[in-house]
Formats: sequence, C-alpha cells, structure tokens
Amino acid sequence: MSYQIAIDGPAGAGKSTVAKAVAEKLGFIYVDTGAMYRAMALYLLRQHIDAADTEKISEASRHADITISYVDGAQQVLLDGENVTNLLRAEEVGNMASASSVNPDVRKKLVELQQKLAARENVVMDGRDIGTCVLPGADVKVYLTASTACRAKRRYDELSAKGKECSLEAVEADIRERDERDMTREVSPLRQAEDAVLVDSSNMTVEEVIDKIISLVPKS
Ligand code: C5P
Repeated sequence: MSYQIAIDGPAGAGKSTVAKAVAEKLGFIYVDTGAMYRAMALYLLRQHIDAADTEKISEASRHADITISYVDGAQQVLLDGENVTNLLRAEEVGNMASASSVNPDVRKKLVELQQKLAARENVVMDGRDIGTCVLPGADVKVYLTASTACRAKRRYDELSAKGKECSLEAVEADIRERDERDMTREVSPLRQAEDAVLVDSSNMTVEEVIDKIISLVPKS
C-alpha cells in the first residue's frame, strides 16, 4: 500500500511550499492538484468558454487530456501533450480554475486522475478536498490555514517580488472571494476533515510547519 499525506486549506496558506518540502524530505512524490484544475482552466480559456457556461464546461472537460509527469522530482502538467506547467500561475488561469472547479464533471475527471497517482506512489497531495474526498483513507491529514490578512500579505509579497503591481486590499479581496467560493460550493467544498490535524501557520515559519507535519508521520 502506498503512504498518503493529504494537505488541504484555503488559498495562500502555504500548502504547496510545505507539501513540496515534506515530499522531498520523505522521498515521496508531491501532487499539486490545484495545477490540474488550472490546466483544465487553461483548456477552457483557450476554447473561449465562459466561466458560467456549465454545459460547455462539462462537455469540454471530457475532451481535455491532462496528464502528470515528473522531471527531477518536479511535477509537470501536460495538456493534450503540451507541457503547460509554466503557464498555470497566471491570475486569469487561477480565477477560471476557481470558477470551473465547481463543475462536477471537471471534479470527477481530476479526482480519478489524483486517486490513480496516489494508488501507485507514496504521495504528499495538496488541494481543497484531498482529506475529505480524494483520499478519505489518507494516513496523515492536515488542514493548513492562516488568517486572511496573513495569507493576503504573503501573496502580496510574492507578487511584488515578481515585480507585479497590485494593492494589498485587492489581493485580500481576491482571497476572500476565492475562499467563499471554495467553501460554499455544492460539490466537495473546502472544509477540514474530521480526522485532520489543524495547523494555523499565521505565526509559524515555513520550517516549523514542515517539522510539524513530519512529526505526524510515524518513524519506520
Ligand atoms: O491551489 P490553487 O490556487 O492552485 O487552486 C486553484 C483553484 O482550483 C482553487 O481556487 C480551487 O477552486 C480549485 N481546486 C479545487 N480542488 C483542489 C485543488 C484546487 O477545487 N483539490
């Protein structure tokens, strides 16, 4: 049986940074499920499909061929054979991912892909519904969060460091909107699984969060 670590939480809680580091320390693969929703979103944007057009999104999701591979341990996302990994972090793609991930057909397809990956490899998988829906039997479940103000500040610093102009207020509003949508959607909304350990990273360093998660894994 593969070993499964599920990390869920809202946008900007530091999931990907921490999950990547935990995977590296344990020699597991890191599965970034948000990148899969983003690849689907890129497909929809390229097809000029409106975020509100449920039927077209359902139909298109059946045709999008999304696969995952690893290069030097880093996850690569292929869309119809094209490596689109570097195109996925754009704001436009993130917003479309948040909107289209409410679609049950999109979720069904990507959840199947995620479950297949986790069945064959030891994984650290991050997302919104990993502990509740994708891997309900995961060995370790973490719900990683931080205050909205804190998450907004981190995101703002990240964007500023990349030379992107933005206001802290706009970033915070965006995060609030995304949380609201992820937490209130009908299909697998973001919530803490009953057996997940809550980690609030507001006053923790990245190293502290990594150590906390590693401490939850029994030494073999
Ligand atoms: O984590 P990331 O910001 O890359 O995810 C993009 C969007 O994909 C999220 O806002 C969320 O709506 C959606 N998502 C999801 N379920 C997951 C991972 C991401 O619905 N397991």
